[in-house]
Amino acid sequence: MPRIPTPLMSIGFALACALMAAPGRAASDPRDGDADEARFRALYETLVEIDTTRSNGDCTRAAEAMRARLLEAGYAPEDARIYAPDDRPRDGALIARLHGRDPRLKPILLLAHIDVVEARREDWGRDPFELLERDGWFTARGASDDKAMASVLTDSMIRYKRAGYAPRRGLKLALTCGEETPDIFNSVEWLLQTHPETLDAAFVLNEGASGELDAAGRHIALQMQAGEKLYQDFELVATDVGGHSSRPTRANPIHRLARGLARLGDYRFPVSLSPVTRAYFERQRALAPGSEAEFGVLLDDARPAAEREAAVDRLWAANPGWNSMLRTTCIATLAQGGHAANALPQRASANINCRILPGVPVEDVRKALQRAIDDDGIAVNAIGKIPVAAPMPTIDAWMLGPVREVAESLWPGVAVVPTLATGATDGRFLNAAGIPTYGLSGLFHDTEGPRSHGLNERVRVRSLLDSRRFLYEVIRRYADATE
Ligand SMILES: [Zn+2]
Repeated sequence: MPRIPTPLMSIGFALACALMAAPGRAASDPRDGDADEARFRALYETLVEIDTTRSNGDCTRAAEAMRARLLEAGYAPEDARIYAPDDRPRDGALIARLHGRDPRLKPILLLAHIDVVEARREDWGRDPFELLERDGWFTARGASDDKAMASVLTDSMIRYKRAGYAPRRGLKLALTCGEETPDIFNSVEWLLQTHPETLDAAFVLNEGASGELDAAGRHIALQMQAGEKLYQDFELVATDVGGHSSRPTRANPIHRLARGLARLGDYRFPVSLSPVTRAYFERQRALAPGSEAEFGVLLDDARPAAEREAAVDRLWAANPGWNSMLRTTCIATLAQGGHAANALPQRASANINCRILPGVPVEDVRKALQRAIDDDGIAVNAIGKIPVAAPMPTIDAWMLGPVREVAESLWPGVAVVPTLATGATDGRFLNAAGIPTYGLSGLFHDTEGPRSHGLNERVRVRSLLDSRRFLYEVIRRYADATE
């Protein structure tokens, strides 16, 4: 991909690159300057400190706060709008546009959710919505998931505007609500149904992938996510007539379900590699030499299935995430049965949570569960609305080029690794709508990770500021790229 810096910037940018290349020095873009970084920190703090939980929060207030900063930077009111259902005034999303020089080109959508999962003061021992900066860490609910990326993307849009930057291809920012509570309301799903033009794009950059630091804090791998596994729950149900517990019959739905669950526990869905996961494990050969032998077997299609299964089992023991990338997984997460201690149970049921590899129909998984349980007396039903199987976005040289170049300038020698998300993001709605969605944050975490959804969620200050440099530049290159 040719690098096309705008004339004004070329000298400054070359200087920035030279600075960035200086080993060990946390480079900063000379145009940035402390004022710019201070503005970013203030924006981040503002966003984090607005409670956007489902229980007490207000996404619209957070979206309005970001809109105010975009207007202050020069965006026209009609280019920064809030969208919320009439009956959900606090579930607002912000959509902002930076128009491109070539209106024939579809814009790039920059997506981040501003809602956060619940956090209780009594668990945290302090206000979880107060941003704490200590010892090189930002700690608060949402410090990472997903207000880090929401802040970086909003700040980038502000800096582009202030710099008078007119990209070749337009940019859209979407700060959305309900990613953490899709069973109640989800902005992306709602906007696709009611205002599809707001999210229409050539492709999307979203959460879903980060960077890996090793124990010594070295930047070893930067992930770019293409495709995600499908989230689907199934209910298993066994019933019986019941009766007095002093006269048990041979049929007992709780025992029956337990035997079925035990068989399911031993069941393994087949190992399946996609172009993305094959590329990921190819990269892992260099990054995780301790498992070299297993990777070798896995990546050798000529090996007998049993040998590959055994190799994957060993990889599973080394890193559960590797197993999750290689096959559909289904596990029991909830179980209940019986209605009284002195009565024979009449009903026993369990929830099976599956994460399905892209392209595998939900009905095929249901049938596989039925076979694994091997008891027609246990009913297996998919729960809820069956999601549309979304195509995997392709991850080619055009997509990887800017990521590799900017990553190399910021973190020399880092491996850029395509990956499949084993968890769910709002990308599933967009991929299913035919809008290719990629996970890319440039946010590096240590081996413990950011504690997303957990106690004392955190992000390294250095990582957040680096992600800001990374995304600002990668987005600019995509926006100016020729086909
Ligand atoms: Zn998230």
